[in-house]
Amino acid sequence: KCVLPSKCVQKSRKKMENPIPPSFSPKLNSKIAIITGGASGIGEATARLFAQHGAQVVIADIQEEKGRSVAESIGSTHCAFIKCDVTDEQQVQSLVQSTVGIHGRVDIMFSNAGIASHNEHAQDILGFNLDALDNLFAVNVRGSVACVKHAAKAMVEGGVKGKIICTASGAATMGITSQIDYAMSKHAVLGLVRSASKGLGAYGIRVNCVSPAAVATPLLEKWMKMGVEELEKLFESFNCLKIGALRASHVADAVLFLASDDSQFITGHNLVVDGGYHPPPM
Ligand code: NAD
Repeated sequence: KCVLPSKCVQKSRKKMENPIPPSFSPKLNSKIAIITGGASGIGEATARLFAQHGAQVVIADIQEEKGRSVAESIGSTHCAFIKCDVTDEQQVQSLVQSTVGIHGRVDIMFSNAGIASHNEHAQDILGFNLDALDNLFAVNVRGSVACVKHAAKAMVEGGVKGKIICTASGAATMGITSQIDYAMSKHAVLGLVRSASKGLGAYGIRVNCVSPAAVATPLLEKWMKMGVEELEKLFESFNCLKIGALRASHVADAVLFLASDDSQFITGHNLVVDGGYHPPPM
């Protein structure tokens, strides 16, 4: 069991970006969480938030330098990095085993690593390049299955009533004209979450997903060939709340809800985080 001395926790919290309000009450005290794709964007924001809430976070990503530097900035008392390519089931299995070896168990798996279409051209139906499917599905679908499977196995074997959260996308249910392959892959994630939640419920394991609308992260910068500021400006008008653009930290808040006991009767759910998606006519 991993219980950190409160001095260490306070010291590492001081290093974090957001000041802790006096009324702060940690929601993940001493929970062991794996976050795939934690080196960047939504995964990074979630790693920071989980650590603030007292979790021990393992960031798993293919980007070694970036992943290590995020883990370091969170603080070694609360975060570590393990290199892992989620397309390789053996690497995912050893990620989970190493985490159990170090911390004794896995309480939370945030299966979040994902990519957009690598195709230079739009993946609309008339110009659809079927060869591009394999690469995309290897990360978004195969990777998600591997993470859910091995986290669930470790939870069942350890008698842990764990929480598994996957990142799907608003694109899954809305459809997206020019990235059909991406929408298909995220629809598969929804199917995985809904189906796995049914079998794992008997073990007290909850499986849910978040479906964010567009967030200005490196994934979308590459996809839309625009910079962060330009993207954020554009996304400000994509919701009906009109309080700015959806940010990675907003998605992290939703993931924290699903990972904590605040959502104890919720499983098989797709939590849409889109501010009431309402893009202007373009
Ligand atoms: P990002 O590019 O900032 O982060 C994705 C991370 O996944 C990166 O650190 C990357 O190195 C990692 N990754 C990619 N392939 C991997 C692999 N094979 N193994 C391990 N790690 C791998 O993008 P993001 O926007 O934060 O994306 C996170 C998730 O959110 C993805 O699943 C994405 O599809 C989903 N999503 C993003 C948006 C958006 O608008 N940004 C909207 C809906 C859903």
